[in-house]
Amino acid sequence: SKFKGDESGDLSPRQTPGVLYSKAHPSPVPKPKLLAWTEDLAQDLGISEPDDEDVAVLAGNKVTTSMQPYAACYAGHQFGNWAGQLGDGRAITLGEWESQGKNWELQLKGAGPTPYSRRADGRAVLRSSVREYLMSEAMYHLGVPTTRALSLVSSGEEILRDMFYNGNPEYEPGAIVMRTSPSFLRFGNFEILAARHEIDNLQKLVNWTIDEFYPHLTGENRIISWYKEVIQKTASLMVEWQRVGFVHGVMNTDNMSILGLTIDYGPFSFIDDYNPGFTPNTTDLPGRRYAFGNQPSVGYWNLGKLGNALLPLFERPDELEEAMQTYEETFWRKYYEMMANKLGLDNVEKDDRTLVAQFEKVLSSLNPDLTIFYQLLTYLPKDLLEEESILDYFNDSFYEIPTGNGRKSFFDLIQKYQDRLKQNSISEEESRERMEKANPRFVLRNYLLHQAIEELEKGESSLFEKLRVALKEPYSKNHDEFFKKRPDWANDKAGCSMLSCSS
Ligand code: AMP
Ligand code: MG
Ligand code: MG
Repeated sequence: SKFKGDESGDLSPRQTPGVLYSKAHPSPVPKPKLLAWTEDLAQDLGISEPDDEDVAVLAGNKVTTSMQPYAACYAGHQFGNWAGQLGDGRAITLGEWESQGKNWELQLKGAGPTPYSRRADGRAVLRSSVREYLMSEAMYHLGVPTTRALSLVSSGEEILRDMFYNGNPEYEPGAIVMRTSPSFLRFGNFEILAARHEIDNLQKLVNWTIDEFYPHLTGENRIISWYKEVIQKTASLMVEWQRVGFVHGVMNTDNMSILGLTIDYGPFSFIDDYNPGFTPNTTDLPGRRYAFGNQPSVGYWNLGKLGNALLPLFERPDELEEAMQTYEETFWRKYYEMMANKLGLDNVEKDDRTLVAQFEKVLSSLNPDLTIFYQLLTYLPKDLLEEESILDYFNDSFYEIPTGNGRKSFFDLIQKYQDRLKQNSISEEESRERMEKANPRFVLRNYLLHQAIEELEKGESSLFEKLRVALKEPYSKNHDEFFKKRPDWANDKAGCSMLSCSS
C-alpha cells in the first residue's frame, strides 16, 4: 500500500513500468498433498499444524480475505549481462505475517504464472522444490543466513521439463514450497527502478528498506551507511559459504538478498572434493563464473551493480566507490577469522596467512573431500608424526590417494600445522571446540538429495525423512551413516551433481 503497484490482476506476461509489484493470485492445483511441515519454524511463527483447509492455502488453492497476494517486479544482471525486467515469475507472496514483533513474508514458490513469468509456466517441479525445502533448512541449521521453508506440498500435476537440457522434455511431478523471510527483496528490486529512472520509487524503496530492516541507521548519511552494511552482510555471507563449502550456482543480482541471506535455491551444491573451480550449474559451464572459488569476487561485482542503482540518490558518486572498498577489508578479516576457527587457531597472524594459503594450495591440488578432511583434522591425534601414518589417517578423505610430490606436500602441510598448533595461546580443548563448531560433519550432498528425490517420486519417503532429521544437527555425530564421501557412482560425470538453472 506504501508502494505503487499494478492492481489490474492481469496475469499475462508483460512489462510493468512505474510499479514495484503486480497483484497476482495463485493458480489452483489438482491434488495437493502435504509432504513436509517445518515444526520449529511454525512454532516461531505461531502457526499451528495445518489441517486440510490450510494445506489448500499452502498449495495456492485457497486465498483468505486477509491475504493480498502479489509478485514483485525486479530486474537483474544474469551471468554478467543486464537482463532487464525479471520479477517473481513463479513466486507469489501471500502477505506478511507478524510474530514475536517480527514480520515475515510468506511466499509460495511454484504457484502458477504472474505477469513476470515471461514464456515459462510459473510452476516448480518436485525435484527442485525438495531441493529448496531441504537445503534452505540445512543452511539454517548450519548457521548460515538464509530464507527458510515452512512447507512442501506436492501438487498432483505433471509439468513438462528438460532436466538435462538435452532436448528431451519429460513430465515431472510438480510441487509448491512455502518459503519465509523477513523480506525477499533483491539487489534487482533496486536495479529496475534505477534503470527505469523511477527515482521517486527508488527513494521510497530505499527509505522503506532502511526503516524496516536497518532501523538503527538514522540521520543524513543513512543511505551510505546502509549500503556499507549491505556490503558487510554480503561479505559475511560469502565467508560462510566458503566455510561450509556451499556453491550457490546462480549468483545473478536478482538472486542477491538485500538482507545478506542465501536466497533462491536452484542449481546449488555443496562441494564434495575440494575444487575452487567447481560449478554445479550446467548453464555456467563455459565460463564457470559462479564456481565455488569465484563467489567472493562475484559478491563484490554484484554489490557494484547495487551501488550503480543507488547512484541517482547521491550527489557524490565517490561516496559509493569508497564504500565499495570496505568489501575487501571486511571479507578478508572475516575470512581469516573463519579459517582460524576451522583450523582451531587462536588467531591468524601474518605468518599464519601463509599457512592458510598453503592449505588452499594443497587441498586444491589433491582435492580431498572438504567435509571429511576438516572432520579428520579436528580429531587429528597428537602422536601422528610419520608420513605413512598421517597419510593413512586421512585416507578416507581422499578420492584419489596422493602419490609422489602430492604426498610430500600433504605431509609437509600437516607437519607445519602441527607445529603451529603448539604455539596456540588457547587450550587444546578450546581449539577443538572451535573446530567442532566451524566444521560440519554432515552436509546435504547433492547425491543424497538426488536419491531422496528418486525415492519420493516413487512414493517412498524414508531417506527424505532421515535427511530432514540429520540436517538439524550438522555438527553432531548422531548421523554418522552420512559421514562418508560421495560414492563413485555419483561423481560429476554421472550427471547427478550437474543441474540446470530453472526447474
Ligand atoms: P532463477 O535463475 O531461478 O533466479 O530465475 C530467473 C527468473 O526466471 C526469475 O525471475 C524467475 O521468477 C523466472 N523463472 C524461473 N523459472 C520459472 C518458471 N518455471 N516459470 C516462470 N518464471 C520462472
Ligand atoms: Mg531467482
Ligand atoms: Mg530460482
